Amino acid sequence: MKMQTEILIIGGGASGMTAAVAAAEFGADVMVAEANAAVGGNGLFPRGIFGVDSKVQRKKLVFADRDQIFKDCMNYSHWKIDGRIIRTLIDKSGDTVDWLMDKGVEFCDVVHHIPNQTPEVFHITEAEENVGHCVIRNLKRICEEKGVRILTNAKGKTLLQNADGSVCGAVCETKDGEVTIHAQKVILCTGGFAGNDEMVEQYYPGFRRELVGQGGGMRHPGDGIRMALEAGAEVEGNFTMEAAAPKIKGYEALNLFLGKPYNVWLNSFGQRFADESIVYNFAVAFNACLRQPDGKVWVVFNQAMLDQTLSDGKDMIETIHMPPNVEERLADTMIQAITDGVLCKADTYEALADFIGCEAEAVKASMEEYNAFCKAGRDGWFAKDKRYLVSMEEGPYYAIKAGEDMLITHGGIRVNERFEALNAARRPIENLYVAGVDFGGADADVYNVVMSGHGFGFAVNSGRIAGEQAVKTLTR
Ligand SMILES: Cc1cc2nc3c(=O)[nH]c(=O)nc-3n(C[C@H](O)[C@H](O)[C@H](O)COP(=O)(O)OP(=O)(O)OC[C@H]3O[C@@H](n4cnc5c(N)ncnc54)[C@H](O)[C@@H]3O)c2cc1C
Repeated sequence: MKMQTEILIIGGGASGMTAAVAAAEFGADVMVAEANAAVGGNGLFPRGIFGVDSKVQRKKLVFADRDQIFKDCMNYSHWKIDGRIIRTLIDKSGDTVDWLMDKGVEFCDVVHHIPNQTPEVFHITEAEENVGHCVIRNLKRICEEKGVRILTNAKGKTLLQNADGSVCGAVCETKDGEVTIHAQKVILCTGGFAGNDEMVEQYYPGFRRELVGQGGGMRHPGDGIRMALEAGAEVEGNFTMEAAAPKIKGYEALNLFLGKPYNVWLNSFGQRFADESIVYNFAVAFNACLRQPDGKVWVVFNQAMLDQTLSDGKDMIETIHMPPNVEERLADTMIQAITDGVLCKADTYEALADFIGCEAEAVKASMEEYNAFCKAGRDGWFAKDKRYLVSMEEGPYYAIKAGEDMLITHGGIRVNERFEALNAARRPIENLYVAGVDFGGADADVYNVVMSGHGFGFAVNSGRIAGEQAVKTLTR
């Protein structure tokens, strides 16, 4: 089968749906090919979106200085990333939050994502419908209103190219066979390659994939990056894994405790290894935990902390991320976790050591040393802020056996600030754009949690810019 459109978008997630609306708003004929049965991709999951100088911020008197944020972002990545791309995305981000509001997304607040973060950039909606779901729902509605054709169960396979290398469409696989779609412009938005072990191995050498669990969300196979490479594009070179720790799968209610900065983290030798309050920055916590033998971590707290968490759990990141009814399920979850051997309740440090499988003396020494640090108000190893130093002299004690989770990959095709794919000579491949987590140059080696919500923010903004740029260069 053959089809024709002006702008073909491959991948109908965060960046793809935004690109579609942005292009359709300027009157373009737009088609979205989405591999799944429904649009949204990982764009359905975000709880917050990055934005600088939005109406929500101005209303709350949050002065977000785009130059300072730009500098912070570049310095965080040691200028390994692309300053023109970062500048473009930051400058567009506040306007995009406003644009989404005009499209029906009701932001209720802009909040901290890590303690004392200044300024607040994480724009959220009410808990009943997270930002991602709300954005996708509204973009889909507008696509329908504007006549954007959305082909679901249509998986982009290869790009079509003219003799001069310019892109002129793509071949997609559908249930009914291959569809050849001719288009003036193609925007690749296929959401990275977390589902492709070979690519993960290739682009993250040394990453211990076998130790890392799979967090929520969808794992895409990296088709956009592959297609762009086949068409002569290059990878940019920086790859970041959006990943978090300490995490445990299948016992959601236990996240009430994992996210607390007051816990003690022990490795399989019964040793502390980090300032546990780094839990607020899930990407660096991931790094610290994954360094441990076999990536295994035991999160220790006592009854007093458990009680305190239940009476006032506000100082943890999960208040943004957790479903409201999780506490009601806690008792059942704990019983199940103990039965399954991932949670232990113990009266002594020795029993904790038994659960961890290490020397009793090691746990005793670690905990006694930690309690002494708490009394002295100074963590002599890892300089944990003294507000989080609460000693655990009395049991019962709890230990959760935790590990690391990866979500998605960031990094891919080299683009310019118009999100045109570049070839080895760093010249645009005509008519080809790349957006979302398929392009490289926005994150270096560690996902920048301080730019809270930028994963979704940069996806949406790059999609919007690519859509606008594609329209500007249409031949009519
Ligand atoms: C659980 C979770 C929570 C998150 N929370 C946040 C948050 O709070 N804030 C934040 O900033 N970021 C968050 N993120 C990250 C954010 O969701 C992503 O950065 C963003 O969705 C990336 O957008 P994208 O368009 O690149 O990919 P996606 O949104 O995943 O879209 C890619 C789309 O392409 C489709 N596709 C793949 N291959 C093909 C193909 N060959 N042909 C056609 N279609 C294809 C997929 O099915 C998918 O629909 C979260 C991610 C996860 C997984």
